[in-house]
Amino acid sequence: MYAYKGYEKYKKEKLATLKPKLAGIENGQSPKTLFITCSDSRICPNELTSSEQGELFVIRNAGNTIPHFDKSNGNADAATLEYAVKALGVEEIIVCGHTHCGAIGALMTGVDANQLGTIASYLSELNELRELSLERKMTGIETIKENIKFQLENIHSYDFVQQAMSQGKLKTYGWIYGLETGEVELVDCEA
Ligand SMILES: [Zn+2]
Repeated sequence: MYAYKGYEKYKKEKLATLKPKLAGIENGQSPKTLFITCSDSRICPNELTSSEQGELFVIRNAGNTIPHFDKSNGNADAATLEYAVKALGVEEIIVCGHTHCGAIGALMTGVDANQLGTIASYLSELNELRELSLERKMTGIETIKENIKFQLENIHSYDFVQQAMSQGKLKTYGWIYGLETGEVELVDCEA
C-alpha cells in the first residue's frame, strides 16, 4: 500500500512537530478560502498556497467543475460549495485549472461512450464549452481558461453566492496553474 508507506514516513518525520497545532483542531474550522481544483496528482493545493491544516477548504474533481445551480440537485460538489459559503463563511473562492488538463483534453477529443460511459456523460455537461471552443478555434490553453470562466459563472448562479458577493463578504477568482512551471497566472474574468 503506497499511501500507507507515505503515512509511516509522515508519522516518523513530521507528526511530532505537528502535534501542538493539532491540539484543539477538532473544535472547528474557519478556512478563508475555498479552493476548487482538478484531481490531477500534479497539483498540490496546500503546497501551492502555503496553507496548513484548517486553512484551505478544497473541492477536487476532474476538470475543476461545479454544476450550474439548475443542475445541482444531489451533487456533492454543489453541497460542498454551499457548506463552504453558508456554514464556513469562506471569503474567497478560487477555481484553479491547470495546463495539460486531461479532462478538457478529453472534452475536445471526445471519449468512447461505450468504453468510458461515466466520463462521456460527465463531459456532456461541458458541451457548451466544447462548442464555443470549436467555433472560436481556441487552442488547448484557451479552452482551459474558458472552462475556468464557465465554472465561475456556474458558481455565480447560486443565490447564496450572489448574496455573499453583494454584501462584500465573498470574492471569486480564476487561476491557471502551470504544471511545468509551478507558477500561477490569474485568469481574466469579470468576477
Ligand atoms: Zn485536470
